[in-house]
Amino acid sequence: MLKAQMLEVQNLSVSYREIIALSNISFSLSSGSLVGLIGANGAGKSTLLKAMLELIPAQSGQIFFDGQPLKKQRHKVAYLPQRSQIDWDYPVTVWNVVMMARTQHSGWFGKVSRQSKEIVRQALERVELYELRDRPIKNLSGGQQQRVFLARALAQQAEILLLDEPLTAVDKKTEALMWQIYSELKQEGKTLLISCHEWGSPLDRYDQLLLLNRQLVASGTPRQVLTNKNIQLAYGAPFAPTNQDSFDHTDELLFC
Ligand code: ATP
Repeated sequence: MLKAQMLEVQNLSVSYREIIALSNISFSLSSGSLVGLIGANGAGKSTLLKAMLELIPAQSGQIFFDGQPLKKQRHKVAYLPQRSQIDWDYPVTVWNVVMMARTQHSGWFGKVSRQSKEIVRQALERVELYELRDRPIKNLSGGQQQRVFLARALAQQAEILLLDEPLTAVDKKTEALMWQIYSELKQEGKTLLISCHEWGSPLDRYDQLLLLNRQLVASGTPRQVLTNKNIQLAYGAPFAPTNQDSFDHTDELLFC
């Protein structure tokens, strides 16, 4: 059996000049879990993922993985940025995007090992894009492009995957494939933290939800988190015209 490792965020606060984006966020996630990060536009979801990676500075806070500072273990974290932050016109092939995940093993100017090539091949086959490996990324559909970046995260063989809205602009086939891969990664003992805008039954697939509104409004199972009280605190409106704190009603409304 795999030993559980904890990803712990303690008292994380982030400001952009006068804007307080995150205030005193603390939570812990155990390995082998699929965790959804939800909240309204501007709630701080992307900021949280970037701050965990130190892509933006934090005013305060510490992050540990397996009892050690995460900053000393950055190679264990794979990050899929929000779609809008990727330059899709950049002249690079599918193969080379995924191979970028291996540069930390070989270095930018190092020789690419046979093992790295095999890992990249397997990652591309897993997302069903090996046949398109020589194609420039700009010539792919939105769903295929997202799968390329998921393959890059797979090729990194990270322990923690931070994915920022990976299901944006994807087709049904990609969506199904991604959920299948998340489930496999979970079984492999990886920790997945996924920022998402989906509502309703897809949220029930997560083991844990973190509901943000600059502060951590709630953390727990979907049923524990998606109560009227929490939704009111996070979005300023209840999610159903009923007083029942029931997850079932989230199917009826779309918040973001
Ligand atoms: P969305 O769901 O729209 O992607 P989000 O929950 O990911 O939103 P963030 O993008 O993290 O939210 O933004 C949190 C807050 O910080 C917002 O008020 C946003 O306007 C602000 N913000 C984000 N990036 C910057 C920046 N580079 N400079 C200044 N303010 C920023």
